[in-house]
Amino acid sequence: MEVKSQLLDLKPYQPGKPIDEVKREYGLNHIVKLASNENPYGYSPKAKEAIERELSQLALYPDGYSTELREKLSALLRVDKNQLIFGNGSDEIVQIICRSLLDHQSNTVMATPTFPQYRHNAVIENAEIREVPLKGGEHDLDAMLAAIDEYTKVVWVCSPNNPTGNYVDQSRLESFLEKVPASVLVVLDEAYYEYVTAEDFPNSLPLLNTYENVMILRTFSKAYGLAALRIGYGIGCKSLVQKIEPAREPFNTSRIAQAAALAALDDQEFIESCRIRNKAGLQQYYAFCEEMKLAYYPSEGNFILIDFSRDANSLFQQLLERGYIVRSGAALGFPTSLRITVGSEEQNREIIDLLKTML
Ligand SMILES: *Cc1c(COP(=O)(O)O)cnc(C)c1O
Repeated sequence: MEVKSQLLDLKPYQPGKPIDEVKREYGLNHIVKLASNENPYGYSPKAKEAIERELSQLALYPDGYSTELREKLSALLRVDKNQLIFGNGSDEIVQIICRSLLDHQSNTVMATPTFPQYRHNAVIENAEIREVPLKGGEHDLDAMLAAIDEYTKVVWVCSPNNPTGNYVDQSRLESFLEKVPASVLVVLDEAYYEYVTAEDFPNSLPLLNTYENVMILRTFSKAYGLAALRIGYGIGCKSLVQKIEPAREPFNTSRIAQAAALAALDDQEFIESCRIRNKAGLQQYYAFCEEMKLAYYPSEGNFILIDFSRDANSLFQQLLERGYIVRSGAALGFPTSLRITVGSEEQNREIIDLLKTML
């Protein structure tokens, strides 16, 4: 059987090592996983109650339109209900966008290194990929503009960028949007939005009124701590959302995910406290980097990319053997770096102490 030739060059997504596998492989009981930017504080107890309540309803299909969640979120964000599209994680919104807009005659522009799913889904659609190297960890928006031509359909801006943590500020974003042709969709992936504290981080939602070619992606997987339930969303202009909706599966978000997300929105105190603790955790890593004279990018996400100026794979391996799973930079395009998810104060201290003994 022959599959589409473009699939032959793709590897399935390589996730952070699963906890059970590490336990078995190294004979450990206690594992700290700081590899996939999951929330070390879990998720809101309100979401937990909602999940338990929903368990009695599992024989019924979910509401394919996510009506209740849509209403709550549209009120919270002050956008029209029809400006929202829900996905089985924001990963699925990336897939829907690629499926709807890309084909073998089109190209798509993105930074590199950035979140791998843009490229992955664009390859499946057989589109030409135009990757523009980051400059100092940041999107090189001028070079990205220069890469756009009449065949460009989608431009991806990941902000804060995974894996560097850098962001595109309000004025740079606006002058970029001003220059992108209206026929090109700009996807603004704000998966880490809830963690951001920078004052010049874009207030992106009002931009949707000026630029009909923008779609913002957000998720319940990161700060909301619901990664297992797979629910994220896109916000765009009504006509764009309406055009891509047919590429969405009818029951793509589960009952449990919808109920949990709805309840999680009611607990903004939880998000606030995660944001504060995350900021403090980042400071622990900054202090460590400065003490050890290691290069890093200041991060607006819940992760930090640290450059050890040597093959970081052995550090990754040594941490793994002690039960600390982080992400080796090799797979992320930064072979001398590790990407570490900001954990609890204690977890951060443990990792930092271990790294100090290894350096
Ligand atoms: C984690 C992540 C996502 C995907 O999250 P979902 O769990 O699919 O919602 C999207 N974009 C970036 C940049 C991410 O880091």
